[in-house]
Amino acid sequence: MNGSQSKSPMNESVLAYGPGSAERAALQAELRRQQSARLDIPLVIGGRSVTTAHTVPVVCPHAHHHVLAQASQADGGHAQQAIEAARRAAPDWAERSLEERAAVFLKAADLLAGPWRQRLNAATMLGQAKTAQQAEIDSACELIDFLRFNVAFAHQIAGHQPQSSPGVANSTDYRALEGFVYAVTPFNFTAIGGNLATAPALMGNTVVWKPATTASLSNYLFMQLLEEAGLPPGVINFVPGEPVAVSEAVLGSEHLAGVHFTGSTAVFDGLWQQVAARLPGYRAYPRLVGETGGKDFVLAHVSADVEALAVALLRGAYEYQGQKCSAASRAYVPRSLWPALRTRLADLMDTIRMGDVCDFGNFMSAVIDARAYARVAGALGRARDDGAVRIVAGGQADDATGFYIRPALVEVEDPRHALMTTELFGPVLTVYVYDDARWNETLALVDGTSGYGLTGAVFARDRAAIGQARRALRQAAGNFYINDKPTGAVVGQQPFGGARRSGTNDKAGSAWNLLRWTSPRTIKETHVPPTQYAYPHMAE
Ligand code: NAD
Repeated sequence: MNGSQSKSPMNESVLAYGPGSAERAALQAELRRQQSARLDIPLVIGGRSVTTAHTVPVVCPHAHHHVLAQASQADGGHAQQAIEAARRAAPDWAERSLEERAAVFLKAADLLAGPWRQRLNAATMLGQAKTAQQAEIDSACELIDFLRFNVAFAHQIAGHQPQSSPGVANSTDYRALEGFVYAVTPFNFTAIGGNLATAPALMGNTVVWKPATTASLSNYLFMQLLEEAGLPPGVINFVPGEPVAVSEAVLGSEHLAGVHFTGSTAVFDGLWQQVAARLPGYRAYPRLVGETGGKDFVLAHVSADVEALAVALLRGAYEYQGQKCSAASRAYVPRSLWPALRTRLADLMDTIRMGDVCDFGNFMSAVIDARAYARVAGALGRARDDGAVRIVAGGQADDATGFYIRPALVEVEDPRHALMTTELFGPVLTVYVYDDARWNETLALVDGTSGYGLTGAVFARDRAAIGQARRALRQAAGNFYINDKPTGAVVGQQPFGGARRSGTNDKAGSAWNLLRWTSPRTIKETHVPPTQYAYPHMAE
């Protein structure tokens, strides 16, 4: 891709993987290859692979006996080494021009769109239990888009320059932050792992990247891809490991310049509190960017199209086993629509095939690990014993071969039931049925029920109702959808992030996010400086 193209990128096309297609054959071959190998995942510090004595197995969530890799685990000492490597690499990297840095990430995007595509997709499928479609939109398309669009946004930022007046030249120098950035990333999107590490690096920072252990296979392959693309040693240091020990060491460094986090609200709260407690010890105020949990809603108006609503709920709640921060998890349905919707949804849910991701006929697979399985199966068990909750369809759990939970449709009588307020992060959709006449009260209920503010959707054919929902729910979601499911944001089209307890809303994959990773310096040059100090009004 040449420089001018990079300034107006196009979204990467999603491949379909239909029977007989070349991409399907390539992906299947790569799945077989990765299944028959057992990789050792090292730390990567200053460009060197570091193997640790303590390792953990990385397994297929859908076939948990199958060990894909052994991942080295960093401790506080390794974190310290990663900080030193990041600091050593910083002066040279920060002094490179934006074009030089961008070239690495544009090459990475092309490698991912080409020879690396199925390697990353297969690793994401096997390690994180994504179907071919879910892997393609994540580890291929979204990550490619992040890399290309961020370059375009960085150029836009660099072009934002102040005015100059006669005899004076003003400019803004977009400096890297002084110090290093700590990227802490979740299991559920390979693209988020890649983006959180590369976005600060594009702006000239060096990074210590702690991935989620369950995503360490795909994330390590991306790290290798970056090295092939020419990323200099030490610019991004890959340290999967024990999160508390690694974070303790990293947050204890006076050189911490920022935290780039995506994950649960509780963990981000903890990181923020640790930074706050150590604030006077830092050389500068660390930038804290965190995209966190959600309890995402779908609100149906009585004028909603029931067929479209059923499909949006099914895809929005159950794709990737409900493990998207944007997944629909609470729905508000008018009483007159509920019987038809309930029947339609339950019928559709019956047809959902769930199982091994290598069987391309499956729509769903397993949840990520034993902890997630216990959390979701436990909540469904409590729901079964709760007289005020009705499990309308699904919800069976079986972890004999993989961490499988059938999609669950649940109805509650109390709109403030824990199932309507707590993020479960699994394939559970809870419905509250409201009286058709109580639309206005329901708008207030949707807005006031959850502490989160990530995504939400309204389904209505009545334009006045759409307008009311848009206004009443303005603060309830950072990404708001009209007659669409609340998942599937596309880089460059729907910048993603929520407010309230869903994060700092710095919109991943946008110029707003990149602005957090630069510390502008204003430069004024005066061409002919005055040589007298007195002003005209002082003349006799
Ligand atoms: P998580 O909070 O368990 O883990 C996220 C990262 O934090 C991982 O790297 C983990 O190892 C690390 N971590 C865990 N405990 C830690 C500690 N005590 N100190 C320091 N680091 C620690 O989240 P997850 O299970 O990987 O991801 C799911 C969560 O992420 C959900 O809450 C989901 O809503 C959220 N999420 C949000 C967005 C968004 O854009 N808002 C996107 C994806 C996921």
